[in-house]
Amino acid sequence: MICVNLKFSQIFSIKVFFFMEMLEEKLKIDKISKGTVIDHIDAGYALTILNLTGIDESKNLMTIGVNVSSKKYKTKDIIKIENVFLNETQMQQISILSPNATISLIENYKVIEKKKVELPKTIKKLILCVNETCISNSEKEPIDTEFLVLEEKPLKIQCIYCERIYNLEAIVFTSKEKKEKKIKQRLQL
Ligand code: ZN
Repeated sequence: MICVNLKFSQIFSIKVFFFMEMLEEKLKIDKISKGTVIDHIDAGYALTILNLTGIDESKNLMTIGVNVSSKKYKTKDIIKIENVFLNETQMQQISILSPNATISLIENYKVIEKKKVELPKTIKKLILCVNETCISNSEKEPIDTEFLVLEEKPLKIQCIYCERIYNLEAIVFTSKEKKEKKIKQRLQL
């Protein structure tokens, strides 16, 4: 009998634990009726993603979770934004910063599509080559930058023109909307 009682109490406590965990998750990030959820962002990169993609200039409701506990990656960041759907460029920018990120499209509070971002084999125009002698920085005839992805995680890319190799920390992004603004890849929080 004692044995049975113990089992029952164990099951009960496990159930309470899961319920509390679900409740906690729910409180942390509210559901949105329509829009995009960017989940599994590497912890600490949410604000950079907002800045780089230009989502930070949106007037729509946004929920940002930084250092949210995650079963898969210990901690992660998450962005929920109403009435906004990402374009190809924004998806690529996210894939450079957080190759594990997932994008969910929401309609009527339901996920209608979920996909993982994909880092392309070559990254065009999105990153600057800081080598001043690189042909991509030629004042007379500047050409679009192009980088070969050598390794995904940790990221290692190589300029196809001058062959300089960059890791994530050394990358300087360019952005159509914010041309003058060189965006640092990670904010120091
Ligand atoms: Zn170069």
